[in-house]
Amino acid sequence: MSDKARALTKKQLETLKNKLIEEKNGLVFSDQVNASNIELSKPEGSDEVEQSITDYTNSHLLRFRNREVFYAKKIDKALKKFEMDEFGLCSDCGEWIRFERLLARPTAEMCIQCKEESERDESNSFTGRQSKSLGKVLDLTGMMA
Ligand SMILES: [Zn+2]
Repeated sequence: MSDKARALTKKQLETLKNKLIEEKNGLVFSDQVNASNIELSKPEGSDEVEQSITDYTNSHLLRFRNREVFYAKKIDKALKKFEMDEFGLCSDCGEWIRFERLLARPTAEMCIQCKEESERDESNSFTGRQSKSLGKVLDLTGMMA
């Protein structure tokens, strides 16, 4: 019995490509992704409360935009793989990623086995990372004191 995923058919590739393009078009900031800055509203003569609300909205917007930019980059990367005939290949083991997985997650770069493995590694090193960042916070407070 072979559980190996087969190469994607032309039709499957087409479906996935369209899906990626659709996803990209659906991003709110997609048309501004290439412009590195978005015009953030900064009303003149506003009082402090208004200003802090504006700051809050702006930082919220920025975070949202950053996430979209990140996702848009992933989509671009995936689309580039079509040009190189590499779309659907796991970046880790080089095997084909299953169509069902790609359909649910067209920007997936790894097959499910590799992904699960890397996630296991991540959770294993979580405690280590956490104490490391805690150390950083302590360093910072020490510097400010
Ligand atoms: Zn793999």
